[in-house]
Amino acid sequence: MKKLSWKKRGEMLNKAAENLQQRKMEFAELLVKEAGKTITDAVKETERAVNTLKESAIAAAGIQGCTVPLENSEDMGRLGYYQRVPVGIVLAITPFNFPLNLACHKIGPALAAGNAVILKPASKTPLSSILLGQIVIQAGFPPEAISVVCGDGGEIGNLLAADPRVRKVSFTGSYETGKNICMAAGVKKITMELGSTGAVIVTPHTDIKKAAAKICKAGFANGGQVCISVQRVYVHTSIQEELITEMKKCAEQINSGNPMLPETELGPMITKKALKKAMERIEQSLQTGGSCVIGNQNDGNILLPTILRDVPESAPVIQEEMFAPVITVNGYNTLSEAISCVNGTNFGLQAGVFTDRLEEAMVCIDNIECGSVIINDTCNFREDQMPYGGVKCSGIGKEGPKYAVEEMTEIKMIILNRKV
Ligand code: NAP
Repeated sequence: MKKLSWKKRGEMLNKAAENLQQRKMEFAELLVKEAGKTITDAVKETERAVNTLKESAIAAAGIQGCTVPLENSEDMGRLGYYQRVPVGIVLAITPFNFPLNLACHKIGPALAAGNAVILKPASKTPLSSILLGQIVIQAGFPPEAISVVCGDGGEIGNLLAADPRVRKVSFTGSYETGKNICMAAGVKKITMELGSTGAVIVTPHTDIKKAAAKICKAGFANGGQVCISVQRVYVHTSIQEELITEMKKCAEQINSGNPMLPETELGPMITKKALKKAMERIEQSLQTGGSCVIGNQNDGNILLPTILRDVPESAPVIQEEMFAPVITVNGYNTLSEAISCVNGTNFGLQAGVFTDRLEEAMVCIDNIECGSVIINDTCNFREDQMPYGGVKCSGIGKEGPKYAVEEMTEIKMIILNRKV
């Protein structure tokens, strides 16, 4: 891999993107079958995966070094520069919720940087990764460039992470698993893309109807099984009733059912266990205060869109990652109160703020502790080329092919002394 030029690596990544594009519907249907996501979401994920591979090809072309001034007044004899070199073998461990695009976010940059990659997909969703591995090899990469290793994470994940031949671990998944992997990996490069408790502030200076529609879309998409799903909404008390009324209307209109049907907007949770866990957390939270506006019911494995309100900040639906179609709407009186609630959990991936006042937007930008602050959209906004990754328990490092390439290369410093 190290011997392939960046141009060749880029061409092969573009070829892989083209192959994936041609097999879009096959991949999308596979995603419905293995992850239970709706066909509409599955098509979108496949399109995003194509784009992520193309962005990785662009990132291959952008790998650069830099000269470093070493001269001082006593000695002008040295020339210094650094170059970026591949780390060697990257271990990519991926979760179930975006099995295809998140795998592309790791293998794309790893290959772009000139590494070999071992992909360990989630046991619930290994099929799209196996097909993706084939596509990469068909695009011209040597077979040694990619291995897809399936198996129970608890059994094989730590072994792979601890192996000294692996020089970089790029993990996306839950905080608890991430912490285990960090301990097993020891001294090597690490990227951790972990969970969150996505929050949105709705100020009175916004279009409430539009904000409500965006919040519901972003909280219920993929059954809420998105790391940047809207889980918490902090709304100014003067508009709390209106926002909740609008959100309830949106929730009532969501079509749930068979994910393979194009009209379905909400499909099943990944497992019965995940459904049970979400419903238990709702019950535990409601016992501490607040009320249910809509939902908190299941239809088979589908948790119907659920909106809670006025739940204490200490409750599980606020403090724990829900990873389910559940949104809690709490009121605030001052913006600083809302910001301290947003910052009041262990997580910090992304946050959204609805306001048309620049001053309010700037206070939020300056004070929210998150990887990204998104003005006039929800925390669920992501473009695959942007630097993406959280702070606190939401993770370490950034994805987005250009930024992931930096994390999957080492800086090698070269010093040329003109005379001994
Ligand atoms: P998970 O249970 O943590 O599993 C993620 C991956 O880690 C799976 O491949 C799993 O394999 C593997 N694994 C489990 N135990 C391991 C161990 N001891 N050593 C090494 N690997 C191990 O997460 P999930 O339920 O699939 O996904 C949901 C989580 O991912 C949520 O917390 C969500 O927020 C997070 N997520 C974060 C982002 C982000 O970009 N920040 C994006 C998407 C999802 P098995 O399946 O075989 O157990």
